[in-house]
Amino acid sequence: MPHVSSYYAASVNQKSHFESLSSDIKTHVCVIGGGFTGLNTAISLAEKNYDVVLIESEKIGWGASGRNGGQLISGFTFSDYFSKHLSSEEAHQIWKIGAVATDIVRQRVNQYGISCDLKEGFIEVAMNASQMRELIERKEDWQTKGYKHQLSIVEESSLKDHVISDRYIGGLIDSGSGHLHPLNLCLGEAQAAKSLGVKIYEQTKALSFEAGETVTIHTKEGSIKAENLVLAGNAYIGNLQKKLRRMIFPASSCIIATEPLNDKMINETLPSDMAVCDLNTILDYYRLSSDRRMLFGGRYNYSGAEPDDAGIRKHIRNRMLKVFPSLENLKIDYAWSGNVAVTMNRIPQLGKLDRNIFYAQGYSGHGVAPTHAAAEIISNGIVNEDKSLNILNRVPHVQLPGGKWFSSPAMAIGMMYYQFRDLLSNYIK
Ligand SMILES: Cc1cc2nc3c(=O)[nH]c(=O)nc-3n(C[C@H](O)[C@H](O)[C@H](O)COP(=O)(O)OP(=O)(O)OC[C@H]3O[C@@H](n4cnc5c(N)ncnc54)[C@H](O)[C@@H]3O)c2cc1C
Repeated sequence: MPHVSSYYAASVNQKSHFESLSSDIKTHVCVIGGGFTGLNTAISLAEKNYDVVLIESEKIGWGASGRNGGQLISGFTFSDYFSKHLSSEEAHQIWKIGAVATDIVRQRVNQYGISCDLKEGFIEVAMNASQMRELIERKEDWQTKGYKHQLSIVEESSLKDHVISDRYIGGLIDSGSGHLHPLNLCLGEAQAAKSLGVKIYEQTKALSFEAGETVTIHTKEGSIKAENLVLAGNAYIGNLQKKLRRMIFPASSCIIATEPLNDKMINETLPSDMAVCDLNTILDYYRLSSDRRMLFGGRYNYSGAEPDDAGIRKHIRNRMLKVFPSLENLKIDYAWSGNVAVTMNRIPQLGKLDRNIFYAQGYSGHGVAPTHAAAEIISNGIVNEDKSLNILNRVPHVQLPGGKWFSSPAMAIGMMYYQFRDLLSNYIK
């Protein structure tokens, strides 16, 4: 399948193509999944002279990595929850890795000369007093823990230097986070991996694998014998590994891209060109593209059904107009959706299924930077039994009952609960 029709697919630096696998091969490490997790695990290992084969069932960047909001945000989601299962020292060790996730992205971009419109600056906005308290506490907590980038709280009046909307009462600016063109980053990382000798195969779906001293991965027209296997299919893992599939809810998130804004419109919406997220569970996230379009994302569909183009345009546009009514007359040029892998406690899941079978998934809608940190943890785990992976491997993860019946209605009920909770907390200021 080609990339989903999106603003990103329409503005790639250059189209790329990798052959499919049609023979039986051997390697040190086989990575399944050509998104940020898989590609960066491959890069890290190839930099350490490992032979790596990466297979992708569709195209590189076809999954969430090539179609997300492009918000590059420091830290693992809900990283405080790690302390429920780990000692405070271990939880701090994991927090530290999440805190440098955006630096890994910047390093890849600089080292491999990847052109992906990378910009600094991200602001998380509060809609009520309790969200504002959350931001103030986070700032203090992260500064105490040693976050090395600048964090600044902005009150309602100075927030208007960055986000001109009546919806918010303040925000937290993180100079270590920012935004970028995710598909161009992903394709650039694939070229980096290739330059390091990683063999990449597209249109090559892993149909099954057999565990053992050597893992054998079967595809339609070939097979791979690997000393280690990395499962990086995230929300698109399907039936390849049922336990991993049951540890996540695949939930759709949708984005619209407007036609380009003129100077006046930019001055009336996002004058400082930062990426923005609100703090609701069913959140709004938005930013300007390098050609000045408003890329606005969120969820609208709580029934568990696949969102359709007309629905995305209508509902996400309505959400955008609640934030920026002045964009009323802008045309919507693109609309698309993709699946995020949400976990029950919202923290990412990294670990081992076997001595030589590794996985990383469940970034819960916040994975552009965290996938890069996860890839470091997994690759270090393969190279030298790194402590961080062993720590994360001990975190217990809830497995949900299988089957379509459960996943769709349960997701819908869960989403309605969160939507109601967001509404309530914004009503009780
Ligand atoms: C609409 C949307 C907006 C988002 N916005 C943001 C954002 O602004 N900021 C942020 O931080 N995060 C965001 N996210 C989340 C972020 O994109 C993901 O967390 C991240 O990209 C996950 O990367 P990944 O490599 O783990 O998975 P993916 O990018 O989904 O890659 C998995 C790949 O594995 C392949 N695969 C699966 N099974 C097989 C198989 N059997 N054989 C071969 N290949 C297989 C799939 O085809 C897919 O390409 C968003 C996600 C979506 C969908």
